[in-house]
Amino acid sequence: MSDKRMPVLFIGHGSPMNAIEENEFSQTWQQIGKELPRPKAILSISAHWETAHPQVTAMTQPKTIHDFSGFPNKLNEMDYPAVGSPELAERVIELLEKKNCTPDQRWGLDHGTWSVLARMYPDADIPVVQLSLAQTRDGQFHYDLGKQLLPLRDEGILILGSGNIVHNLGMMQFGGQSYDWAEEFDKKAKECIDSSQHTPLIQFQHLSKAASLAINSAEHYLPLLYILALQTPQDELRYYCEKLFYGSLSMRCVQFG
Ligand code: ZN
Repeated sequence: MSDKRMPVLFIGHGSPMNAIEENEFSQTWQQIGKELPRPKAILSISAHWETAHPQVTAMTQPKTIHDFSGFPNKLNEMDYPAVGSPELAERVIELLEKKNCTPDQRWGLDHGTWSVLARMYPDADIPVVQLSLAQTRDGQFHYDLGKQLLPLRDEGILILGSGNIVHNLGMMQFGGQSYDWAEEFDKKAKECIDSSQHTPLIQFQHLSKAASLAINSAEHYLPLLYILALQTPQDELRYYCEKLFYGSLSMRCVQFG
């Protein structure tokens, strides 16, 4: 089955403006969408949906959520009309049986998901389901949960993690230089990924001063752990957008398979 196994992808999403702006990031995402085998459906783990325990969107028509402020009307009016997939939601719940995952009818697609998919799949013609991040759980919980999703790769499902490996909004500098700690942690993450050393990345709280500045709140980092957990020995590794933005955001994307 491995020749039919879907790749898994972590996208560093950065600003919601990437949904409508032509730039090196949005153009790369567009290219990735063209090059990947076409998925039957997408399971997205976005930094922007945190709940007490894991939840999965189970509605047939998820709404586009504009979970940001201070951006142009064009972005606020944007709609990403992909359908949902109650079948995939049910399958996720089945795979996560010991993780108390429940169906959700209220969320939809937040910008962590649609700002990326609007570039990768602009026709919105692939069903999309979101899986929430369980707040207060540690890296090991998220990594273990990710492992349980592995069968989906052989069922034509694209699993997408959307966040940023380095994400410190409070320290962003528009047009400024990158911080040393941001470069240090982005490089360290790459080294660990290159050598398949996942443990230091799972236990990120104990890694370094640079890690605590890079991951000053974990929600943008945690989607990466799901993607690492889904790596298999046969997978090729590719990076895209290996760049820091506004000094304290890493736009690095990681693909296995
Ligand atoms: Zn974000």
